Amino acid sequence: MKHQSPAEVGRQTEHLWLPYTQMAIAPPPLEAVETAGARIRLKDGRDLVDGIASWWTACHGYNHPHIRAAVAGQLEAMPHVMFGGLVHEPAVTLANRLTGILPAGLERVFFSESGSVAVEIALKLAIQYRANRGEMGATRFVAFRRGYHGDTLGAMAVSDPELGFHDRRHFGGYVPEHFFADVPRDAKAAERFDAFLTQHASEVAGVIVEPLVQAAGGMHFHSAESLRWVAEACRRHGLLLIADEVATGFGRTGRLFACEEAGISPDILCLSKALTGGTMALAATVASAEIFEAFLGPDPEKAFLHGPTFMANPLACAAANASLDLFEREPRLEQIAAIEAHLGAALEPCRDLPGVRDVRAKGAIGVVELEGNFDHDWLRARFVEEGTWIRPFGNIVYLMPAFVIEPEDLERLTGAVVKVVGEWSAHKKTPG
Ligand SMILES: *Cc1c(COP(=O)(O)O)cnc(C)c1O
Repeated sequence: MKHQSPAEVGRQTEHLWLPYTQMAIAPPPLEAVETAGARIRLKDGRDLVDGIASWWTACHGYNHPHIRAAVAGQLEAMPHVMFGGLVHEPAVTLANRLTGILPAGLERVFFSESGSVAVEIALKLAIQYRANRGEMGATRFVAFRRGYHGDTLGAMAVSDPELGFHDRRHFGGYVPEHFFADVPRDAKAAERFDAFLTQHASEVAGVIVEPLVQAAGGMHFHSAESLRWVAEACRRHGLLLIADEVATGFGRTGRLFACEEAGISPDILCLSKALTGGTMALAATVASAEIFEAFLGPDPEKAFLHGPTFMANPLACAAANASLDLFEREPRLEQIAAIEAHLGAALEPCRDLPGVRDVRAKGAIGVVELEGNFDHDWLRARFVEEGTWIRPFGNIVYLMPAFVIEPEDLERLTGAVVKVVGEWSAHKKTPG
């Protein structure tokens, strides 16, 4: 196999700026040329089993023929048309279908193109909802430690400042100050959370939470009961609850939506990552009828004056409708349950390794949490050598594969995690 030399890759990528990357010292990126199922083919011919489904999006695997056909058909008819004053069948159908499967009460879909923007829209809706009702000054949010909601300024402001994603010092006064609480894990903590809301309710428009799994903040799980405590406290204090299901939506935690497991209906819910089955950029912010109605009236200023240029892109909506077909036709939730069982059992041997703090699985998410930080580049390179695409971050090694992954590919992933974390535990306990 002919691997590209770092110099060769460096020359080819000299005009790129890569995400979350210190470009001065990062190892060169690999070049992908083809994807199929749970596999990524590199330019040098190597085939990697994708353990993280392209940032948790490609839930039906890559290149699913049903999604490809839907997008190809839409490409012939109308790749894009503006959404101001015009609508189209793919968006109308998608909005009707989403509101049909989301928790009850979520009635109005506002489309955009990324998870961060879906969160920005949720925050703006919540603040203007209060303002439209004459409740001025309720412009702050309660968010949770270890929470992550995106990289744009507003979404960043409700993400845990300690995460290391966003160094607030770089952005000074541009980042609004919000309130951070711990996700309540027992009845006492639920009381403390309630008291926290009592203290701040007059300034606060709403509470934003990643239901059941705080994903990019370290794959921390909380129970359905914890989520219910949060929802109940919001109701008691008249605060809007925003559920950011950008990561958890579409089966990842074992139900179609994480809110279902707790039986809660948030006031606003954000979707993106797996919405199009990992094929196109699309996001949705879905609001309750009550919120929508607060924007109605003869006064044009009461309207929601927001409109991303490419919102509701027809190709992306066609892909999302095809993705929903697959959730209806194929046994995705059963596949996820089988993945959960395999991840739980197969990662368990890591628990006894020195330096491993925790092993956990929920839905199609498997996590090995290490003590302290570690050498990500070494681990990532080792995973590629093992024929897998696994990207540890912070202090976790995690798997979030496609739901259609073949059993032997899933075994290759879990086998690689056990092997490489074992090597790390024996030899590489410190960065560098
Ligand atoms: C990824 C993510 C976002 C941001 O989505 P982008 O499409 O990357 O902007 C927001 N919220 C959660 C929970 C996420 O996991």
